[in-house]
Amino acid sequence: MKYIIKTFGCQMNVHESEKLSGMLESLGYTNTDNYNDSDVIVFNTCCIRDGVEQKILGNIGALKKLKKKNPNLIIAICGCMSQADGRADLILKKFPFVDIIFGTHNIHKFKEYVQQKLSTNSKIIDVWEKEEGIFEDVEIKRDNFFSNAWVNINFGCNNFCTYCIVPYVRGRERSRLPQDIINECKQLIAEGYKYITLLGQNVNSYGNDLDDPNINFANLLKDCASLDGDFRIKFMTSHPKDLSEDVVKTIATYPKLSKVIHLPIQSGSNDILKSMNRKYTREHYLELISMIRKHIPNAYISTDIIVGFPGETEKDFLDTYSLIEEVRYDGVFAFMYSRRSGTVADKMENQIDEEVKKDRIHKLLELSKRITKEKNKESIGSNMNVIAIENTSDGYKVMSDSGKTIFVDDSLEPNKFYNIQITKFACNKLFAKLVN
Ligand code: SF4
Repeated sequence: MKYIIKTFGCQMNVHESEKLSGMLESLGYTNTDNYNDSDVIVFNTCCIRDGVEQKILGNIGALKKLKKKNPNLIIAICGCMSQADGRADLILKKFPFVDIIFGTHNIHKFKEYVQQKLSTNSKIIDVWEKEEGIFEDVEIKRDNFFSNAWVNINFGCNNFCTYCIVPYVRGRERSRLPQDIINECKQLIAEGYKYITLLGQNVNSYGNDLDDPNINFANLLKDCASLDGDFRIKFMTSHPKDLSEDVVKTIATYPKLSKVIHLPIQSGSNDILKSMNRKYTREHYLELISMIRKHIPNAYISTDIIVGFPGETEKDFLDTYSLIEEVRYDGVFAFMYSRRSGTVADKMENQIDEEVKKDRIHKLLELSKRITKEKNKESIGSNMNVIAIENTSDGYKVMSDSGKTIFVDDSLEPNKFYNIQITKFACNKLFAKLVN
C-alpha cells in the first residue's frame, strides 16, 4: 500500500504533511513518488493567493484519469484551501471523484477518515468551522531535511493583517503547553536531530492565551536551550509588534539558541503599514533592529517585503528601499502583492499595476543582492558555528544556522557542529578554515 502527499504553501503545511504521513504509515502505507503506484493521494493545500488556488484546482483535475484507472484510489484534499469559505463545496462540485475533504482544524482525524473510507467506501466531507483546542499524540513521519525537526508551539493568528487569509482559515491563537513542547524536543534530541525549529504564525505571542503569566516565549526558549545535548533551537515567525527585549536577551545569552532572527517588516512606509494593519511603525521597527544588534552584534537578520500593496506610491516604495539600505539585512524575501479574495486588501481601491510591481521588486532584489555581496566580503575574518554536510569538489560543505553554504578546506564529520573562520569570498562562494 503506497501513498503520496503533495504539499503547497508554508512550513506550517510542510510539518502538517509530516503528521499526515505519520498517520498513513501507522496504517501500513509506505511513501512513493510515483502517482501511478499510489493507493492514497493527499493534496495539503494553500490559499495564500488566488493564483495558488487556481494552480491547485488544476492539479486536482489532473487526478481524474488516475481515479478512472484505479477506482480504489483514495484522493484526499485538506489544508487551508479546503478550510476557506465555500471551497469544500466547490472542490466537490468540480471534482466529484475526490473521496475525502477536511480542513485545518481536524487534521488529527485523517487516520479515522481513511479507515472509514476503506470500510464503508462512503465520501467523507468534514470541515470544522472552528478550532477546538490542541490535539497531541499525532503520529509524525519527519522528513529529516538537514537534520531539522519542526515543532509546533502555537497555532492560529489574532492579527488580521489586511492582506492575509491565515486568521480566517487557521483560527485564533492557541498555545501548546510547555511540557508537551519540551518532551517533544527531548525526544528529537535523543533521536539525533541537530536543529529544532519552533513553529508558529507568531511565536512571540506564545503563551498569551494561557493563564500562567510565566508561560511566554522567552521562558520557553530558556527551557528548550537548557536541555542536554548538541543541538540548536531556531524559530519562525516573529511579529515585530510582539518581539520583546527579554526574548532578544535570552537569544543572546544561550549558546544553543540560533542567532538568526527573521523579522518581517513588509513595508518601510508608515502609511502602508497602517493600511496593512501591522500595528507598528517604521520608527519602532528600526528601534527593534538597534536593540537586537546591541544585544546580539552577530545576529543574522532577515525580513519579508510585500511590494505593490494597494495604494503604494513611489514615495512609499522609496521608504521601503531606504529602510532596506539602512538595516542592511542579511536576507530579504520580497514578494509582489497578489490579491486574495476574502481579505480586506482585496477590496481596497488603488490596486497597483503589475508592471509597476515588477519594476519595484526588481529594484529591491538588486539592492538586496548588492548588500549580500558587500556583507559576504565584510564577513572575511569573522567566526561562525556551522554544521558539516558533505564533501564536495569545492571543499567540505558546511551550513550556518541561516542556511548559508560555506566550504571548508578540511575533512569533517557530517552532522557535527564546528567553529569556523571565513577566509575568502570568491566566485560568489564563501570559504573558511576550522578554528577552536
Ligand atoms: S501576523 Fe499577519 S501576516 Fe502573519 S499570519 Fe497573522 S495575519 Fe497573517
